[in-house]
Amino acid sequence: MIRADLHIHTTFSDDSQTTPKDLVERLVAHPSIKAAAVTDHDSVKGIRIVQALAKPYADVLILPGVEISTPQGDIVILGAEEMPPKPWTVGNVVDFAKRNAYLSIAAHPFREWGLGEATRTSNVDAIEVLNGGSSASANEQAHELAVELGLPGVAGSDSHKPSELFSAYTEVKAGLNVDEILRAVRKGLVKAVLSDKSIRF
Ligand SMILES: [Zn+2]
Repeated sequence: MIRADLHIHTTFSDDSQTTPKDLVERLVAHPSIKAAAVTDHDSVKGIRIVQALAKPYADVLILPGVEISTPQGDIVILGAEEMPPKPWTVGNVVDFAKRNAYLSIAAHPFREWGLGEATRTSNVDAIEVLNGGSSASANEQAHELAVELGLPGVAGSDSHKPSELFSAYTEVKAGLNVDEILRAVRKGLVKAVLSDKSIRF
């Protein structure tokens, strides 16, 4: 079993202060969370840079990803190192993920910029049931929807600064390998966990 923060913004998102170096340093220092997904807003430019910084450390893994702003709400694609073709409708983004064996995730569905009830017809692979930036009630609503739809529930910090990293994470029954993690999430071999607090430096 590994622990992974599946929703992280770096400075390749306009609204984040977490540099690639911050992310890798904190991931290396963390006692148990050893996988982190880079999911910048509408950009995959940071992935290679973060991966290169993490390369010397055999016990950490950077998952590629992106958070796409569709007009209906945000969708995280895990596994993607390239952008989906435009227009970024929900259908196009979810199809892009399916065609390439990536994972589509309804991010914070019941917060601002979330898909909300449109999650039901979106055909996403999983739902973010714990988001570090969402209220307890919004997370609870997301959890209930995942149960109702029979979809895997995942977690991520949605951190925009270093102190917010790892505030929520996913326990995945997989090794430290991108394909294994994507496969395990798809099978629902996951548990969403909210940390008491993220690690402080
Ligand atoms: Zn986000």
